[in-house]
Amino acid sequence: KSFEQLGLNPLILNGLSAMNFRKPSKVQERALPLLMSNPPKNLVGQSQSGTGKTAAFTLNILSRLDLSTEEAQLTPQALILAPTRELARQIVGVIQMMGRFLEGLVIGTAVPTDAANRPTRMQCSVVVGTPGTVQDMIKKRIMNPTQLKVLVLDEADNMLDQQGMGDQCIRVKAMLPRTIQVVLFSATFPAHVHQYANKFAPGANEITL
Ligand code: AMP
Repeated sequence: KSFEQLGLNPLILNGLSAMNFRKPSKVQERALPLLMSNPPKNLVGQSQSGTGKTAAFTLNILSRLDLSTEEAQLTPQALILAPTRELARQIVGVIQMMGRFLEGLVIGTAVPTDAANRPTRMQCSVVVGTPGTVQDMIKKRIMNPTQLKVLVLDEADNMLDQQGMGDQCIRVKAMLPRTIQVVLFSATFPAHVHQYANKFAPGANEITL
């Protein structure tokens, strides 16, 4: 199946052409129909970095955004949690490139920084961040979680290897709308990651490559 046949908006297709993405990778081909189905379903996916999972969850997010008013553009509708600020920044770069033709799309980064660079309000359509910083920003009302429609956990296995990060993700999720679409990607699925994924994304479709 081509990107066109997946029913992507023409402006998003233009973004893909500009990035020279001609056809979906295997993980994109398998994940996108599930991710983009309506009503939205949770997804748990096994995918190494380098397979194109970033584009898979980004395309679903860009497809679901309402950018029709300034208020919508500046209120977070999708949240991506990543284990490190380097990965968060990489993801921001991909969303920016893929969404470059979508007017009003604003991406915010929520990673540990010194006080001087800390935003006082997260006014953006998509937030990419590390779990501790996101948790803190929601608690301090710097970020409004009430309009979030999609939550992505990237590199879940790496997150669970870091002290306390799995719990932070659970605490963040507890502050989000109950009906949010949950997407979890992990390169590996040892028993503890599987257990966590089942709890974090109940009733999910599962794909393994
Ligand atoms: P990721 O697994 O998300 O880190 O992506 C791995 C690399 O593959 C990145 O450099 C992407 O730009 C590239 N990539 C992902 N999907 C496609 C595609 N459908 N066509 C061409 N390149 C792609």
